[in-house]
Amino acid sequence: MNATVYRSTGSWYDVKDETGQLWKARIKGVFKIEGLSSTNPIAVGDVVSMEIENEDTHIATIAGIHDRHNYISRQSPSHRRQHHIVASNLDQVLLVATIKDPRTSNGFMDRFLVAAEAYHVPAILLINKQDAWKEKDKAKFEEWSAIYSQIGYQIMAVSVQQGTGMDGLHALLKNKTTLVSGHSGVGKSSLLNALIPGFTLRTKEVSGWSGKGMHTTTFAEMFDLPDGGRIIDTPGIREFGIVDIEREELSHYFPEMRAVLQECQFNNCLHVNEPGCAVKQAVSDGSISPDRFASYLSILDTIKENEWE
Ligand code: GDP
Ligand code: ZN
Repeated sequence: MNATVYRSTGSWYDVKDETGQLWKARIKGVFKIEGLSSTNPIAVGDVVSMEIENEDTHIATIAGIHDRHNYISRQSPSHRRQHHIVASNLDQVLLVATIKDPRTSNGFMDRFLVAAEAYHVPAILLINKQDAWKEKDKAKFEEWSAIYSQIGYQIMAVSVQQGTGMDGLHALLKNKTTLVSGHSGVGKSSLLNALIPGFTLRTKEVSGWSGKGMHTTTFAEMFDLPDGGRIIDTPGIREFGIVDIEREELSHYFPEMRAVLQECQFNNCLHVNEPGCAVKQAVSDGSISPDRFASYLSILDTIKENEWE
């Protein structure tokens, strides 16, 4: 029988079978995950084959894992070469952001979008607290909206508190598996409370990082939406980082740069100081946003730093 992983708590997994029943399951044997050295063999979102161990106590064993369509991972803090799979089989990722209280920076949003591109998962920008906007904040939203929708991203404004814009959001989430992220204060918890019945009642666990010191964390966790679809909540924004991107490939994760970079004079152009750079030309033409280009340069800089570590 197939089941989907909703929650992982160390060596036990909460899985839901195709009839909607929940089981506590643990792994039987050892799985080889190809092409990735990961600290966790099974992640939230995985589809597994399950064998019932005890019908009464709803204990099961996981006998195998189906191929992942995609996954997002983070680097282990202690081992750079090791990855921890945060979640798999995503249809989309949604970043909750705000124009004020607190202000989400363009750089932060662009890093998120680069990571989503690198993982080949479509991204949505949800700008919350619309109710609190003054004229200049509305203008800021219009500016963001123009920049991001032009390069192919969904961007929408909502007020979770007042319920404004929520119908459009429900339509985007329906029958999809969506990972939700956002830095603290943007209203992510309020959003999940509005979307998921019983969200506040969930429990928190204490976990160790492969035995290397104990940290209090919550695991990624999946929830069903009442009208179809699923939400994956992740404990922190750091779960969604830029992993393993080479400097030379970074511009491929900016759709508007990807569209012109074949025209650069040098095919290994980093779009910084090189002559005949089509990207820099597009920035001066105004067809690439200077803010997006600034984000590109800033991310490029952090990749350079990583190489020196
Ligand atoms: P989280 O840290 O992202 O989980 O954010 P919370 O859901 O805890 O919300 C942070 C603060 O923003 C709280 O004081 C919420 O009441 C407030 N907040 C959430 N949504 C809205 C909204 O739509 N409008 C306004 N004005 N405040 C909101
Ligand atoms: Zn170039």
